Amino acid sequence: MKQVDTIGELKKELSGERGGKIGFVPTMGALHEGHMSLVDRARRENDTVVVSVFVNPTQFNDPEDLRHYPRTIEADLDLLRAAGVDYVFTPSVEEIYPEPDERVFDFGLLDKVMEGATRPGHFNGVAQVVSRLFDIVAPDRAYFGQKDFQQLAVIRELVRQTGADVEIVECPIVREEDGLAMSSRNTLLTPQHRIAAPDIYKALCKARELKSKMSVRELEKWVTDEIDKNPLLKVIYFRIVDRDTLAEANNWTDGKLKQGCVAVTAGNVRLIDNVYLG
Ligand code: AMP
Repeated sequence: MKQVDTIGELKKELSGERGGKIGFVPTMGALHEGHMSLVDRARRENDTVVVSVFVNPTQFNDPEDLRHYPRTIEADLDLLRAAGVDYVFTPSVEEIYPEPDERVFDFGLLDKVMEGATRPGHFNGVAQVVSRLFDIVAPDRAYFGQKDFQQLAVIRELVRQTGADVEIVECPIVREEDGLAMSSRNTLLTPQHRIAAPDIYKALCKARELKSKMSVRELEKWVTDEIDKNPLLKVIYFRIVDRDTLAEANNWTDGKLKQGCVAVTAGNVRLIDNVYLG
């Protein structure tokens, strides 16, 4: 595995790999099994695997959140080496943004609801970094987790708008044994909040069962109340949306596939999760 810090060096290395397929996994590091499931899949499906580890400042709307974001680069490098990654790209902020990125994307509804409504500018920052990384790596396939369900919708739209020649591969959510969706942020939970956090997924699972007995609005309220019953958790939103457009669902019978998406604060840690509701 080669660790590369500069765009110039990465492009030079990859110019020799263009005969085969290049798979790319963008991450912000503090890697766990969720990230590694993307890496393993990229390893199986491509000749060359590139992973980026870059904590992108433009997608953080809260400077404190950026400051506290976990950084474990030595452990990350060990995991990536063991997984057979070819190149790990670890650029500095100046390397990615030599000048401030002023681009403003228009994703319509996709970046206005849920995470977009509660984290202003977040998806614009995600689009900035992903489009830069796609330009640099020019991968054949890029791997993203369904854990960040809304992010996937935004990235699909970004690819459509920019015409980037890359296949977006969606990977299922990897969970802890108690159901909590794996996240770099889980390491920031206090022991008490870590014990409380699996209640989020428990409520999502129950929602799947209750769906036939409640209207969409009733179920949204039920899930919110159920999670909020735990005094250590506070729901920011729970929305049942159209899987493609992210428009709020109004009934179960419109023939559209639906996803239930939740954001919760556990102490001062923000957790997200989602579930397919058919
Ligand atoms: P991040 O480092 O949080 O930006 O995540 C990098 C990629 O890993 C994103 O595509 C995430 O959706 C994905 N990812 C993070 N956690 C999980 C998980 N528990 N299961 C599957 N994919 C995940």
